[in-house]
Amino acid sequence: MGRLIVLFLLVVSLPLFADADKLEFTLHKKESGKPGKTILVIGGIQGDEPGGFNAASLLVTHYQVNKGNIWVVPNLNFQSIIHRSRGMNGDMNRKFANVPSSDPDYDTVQRIKQLIKSEQVDYIFNLHDGSGFYRETYIDKMHSPMRWGQSIIIDQEELDDHDLGNMNEAARTIVDRVNERLLDQEHVYRVKNTRTREGDHEMEKTLTYFAINHGKPAIGIEASKSLPTHQRAYYHLQVLEAYMDWLGLEYQRDMNLQAAAVKDAIDNNVKVSFYQNRIFMDMKNARKTLRYVPLREGSHVEFSASSPLVAITSRKNGYRINYGNRRVTDLHPQYFDYDNSLSSITMLVDGEEKQVTPGSIVDVDQAFRVETLEGYRVNVIGWSKKKLKNESGHDIYRNEIVKRYSIDKQGTIFRVELYKDKKFSGMVLVRFPRGSETAKYREAEPFVQQSG
Ligand SMILES: [Zn+2]
Repeated sequence: MGRLIVLFLLVVSLPLFADADKLEFTLHKKESGKPGKTILVIGGIQGDEPGGFNAASLLVTHYQVNKGNIWVVPNLNFQSIIHRSRGMNGDMNRKFANVPSSDPDYDTVQRIKQLIKSEQVDYIFNLHDGSGFYRETYIDKMHSPMRWGQSIIIDQEELDDHDLGNMNEAARTIVDRVNERLLDQEHVYRVKNTRTREGDHEMEKTLTYFAINHGKPAIGIEASKSLPTHQRAYYHLQVLEAYMDWLGLEYQRDMNLQAAAVKDAIDNNVKVSFYQNRIFMDMKNARKTLRYVPLREGSHVEFSASSPLVAITSRKNGYRINYGNRRVTDLHPQYFDYDNSLSSITMLVDGEEKQVTPGSIVDVDQAFRVETLEGYRVNVIGWSKKKLKNESGHDIYRNEIVKRYSIDKQGTIFRVELYKDKKFSGMVLVRFPRGSETAKYREAEPFVQQSG
């Protein structure tokens, strides 16, 4: 422990600030600069299918492409995603044959249609979570031809006059490979052909059928709603990787493609930075409400996030942070002018001196202190000493900080705020080890100051 962690956020091109009903999807182009196929991966056409949109989001944050190109829209129906609704304005995946301009989804559907038709796009994947387990013959209620889960959906076997038009054959090849990587035999993948052209009037209205009618191979990928979200995402990524290999794309990822690692990647992807990192918060297990967050007076909230599924929307008392289907926290701001003069502070962390920049998380085993810095005032949220206005220069132990002031429910992460006169200069987080802190601190060696 006692390490200093500076986290680098993927700066995704999120809208700076949005009302919940004005959230727009984002497009993330991962381009290798080397010739190859371009795929378009779409997640979140229905807002209550988190396996699909989390997988698409992980493709944005954890993959790099070395040959060919990966375009990802991880949050197509963003408003419905944060409301955990299949479709706030009805089912978006029935709006691709016809949609009146008065429909609230009209602009979104037009934008994604343009992307689908882009000359560069070679193959389109629409990610879903479907009910039960698709089987060619009826086994029981949850394993039958009426179900959708664990299948690759094609609208027809072939797309004429296209070098990648053998959608059925390709899907069967992919399914064979994915079936070598099952977490359980029940999860076996199948190919489901909806034979849309032969008179499936519902499927005629879908995104993939629109794509096919514009000469683009397109398939649906379904994971089962019977599985936990991270397992669904695991299967989506397995299918996508199989397709990418088949299409000759080259890529690398900075996580293992294993169910537990996928769960970890999803759960840990809720980090938000405000105003070029003057404030950085790791929102994993954040409390329902965070009060007195020093936001900037008289401006929109500027933020970047670790995931394109993070949305910040205005509320009556401040802002709400959502991450996919999860409501993360409500921020109740206190407004300040900002001071940008502070580049770093000196901290003594378990006896070791560290230079710490605003927007960092510092791991503390036992105690820390912020060294006095001329002109700046330190406020450790949840720690106080009578009549003390500036909390620099004091050794601070975890059991001296009131637990309910932590930003996380476990009471391990606390805010250290810096001010210059009445202006806010930046925030650092201190993070104590998790677990039975009371017992640990009773046993703990007294903190010995080693320098300064
Ligand atoms: Zn769906």
